[in-house]
Amino acid sequence: MKKLHNSIEATIEQLNNDDSPWIVGFSGGKDSSLVIQILISAFCQLPVSKRKKLYVFYCDTGVEIPVLKDYIKNTLERIRKEGRALGVDISVKAIKPAVKDRYFVKVIGRGYPPPTNIFRWCTDRLRIDPIQVAIKQYVGDGEATVILGTRFSESGERDKILKANALDKPYLFKQQGHQKTTLFCPIVDFTAEDVWEGLLCIKGVSAIDLHLISKIYKEISGECPIIRLPETNPCSKGRFGCWTCTVVRKDKASKNLILNGYKSLEPLYEFREWLLSIRDEIEFRCTVRRNGQGGLGPFRLSARVKILEMLIAAQEASGHNLISDAELSEIYRLWQLDKDNSNYAEDLNKHLANQSTRTQQSCAGV
Ligand code: SF4
Repeated sequence: MKKLHNSIEATIEQLNNDDSPWIVGFSGGKDSSLVIQILISAFCQLPVSKRKKLYVFYCDTGVEIPVLKDYIKNTLERIRKEGRALGVDISVKAIKPAVKDRYFVKVIGRGYPPPTNIFRWCTDRLRIDPIQVAIKQYVGDGEATVILGTRFSESGERDKILKANALDKPYLFKQQGHQKTTLFCPIVDFTAEDVWEGLLCIKGVSAIDLHLISKIYKEISGECPIIRLPETNPCSKGRFGCWTCTVVRKDKASKNLILNGYKSLEPLYEFREWLLSIRDEIEFRCTVRRNGQGGLGPFRLSARVKILEMLIAAQEASGHNLISDAELSEIYRLWQLDKDNSNYAEDLNKHLANQSTRTQQSCAGV
């Protein structure tokens, strides 16, 4: 397969000419899976002295589709083991967004409306910033090369942004807002069919279980890049994304998984639908925005209490852990701040008084 051959050759050439640390974002999807295979293959064709350490970052946003987490965890372990067996020093890191930036802290704590294409506050906070923080933590403040499974032809919008950020060598792009990061995208010219063919054809590496990933794709159809260009399509367009994603109107991924027998996702699916349905309802929103101007502001404190109740109910019904103690503490802290702010205090006291004992007990036990 010519594209695969070219991609591996370009990766070898880049490795030979690039002294900066290499970091690859892994989401579990087919694109980042092929990128990992290409990297391992290229590393193996270099003399041992040239094989730099490869960092594999997986970003657990806290709202990843729960049933896919085991697959991703096992795959990361396979990648690490295969690297060791082949003499490639692979360091796997699972990273998380800062508590203040987690999805439910923003929505339930601060009252952010769930993201849409127009107000898409999530991608930077949940997926891009944590990677940048991890880069600083693990490889320092200097230059770094981030390897992505981004591809042309996924959307016209993405193509435009990729072209605007292209550097003077094939596969290389700058990352907007992060001057010290260069993006290396070895499958940028692949179609979706090429990616599957690449996974099938690549020789000598087996970290990705092709049978399993094909099965998952049949059940879900898609993936979510970890580090991406924030202005492009939502990362969960039928893919490995956040189960809460409202940037897409329909959550096809969870729907398909439920149809394929993952019934524990039903309460999550219903919660997301409900959250989307109340997003723009005036009675759920404050009348003052955070910038002090009138208009549809954050969710009222009473609405945030209700959203937390619904989330805890979904958690109990599904058996999946949906919110952590650290997130709950931050949420209560933020509620207190708004309770002391005349713009947002509204009717919290009344609603807190009405809050069911069941929710309070559930929250305490999360
Ligand atoms: S999957 Fe959706 S909610 Fe999650 S970061 Fe991507 S666009 Fe935002």
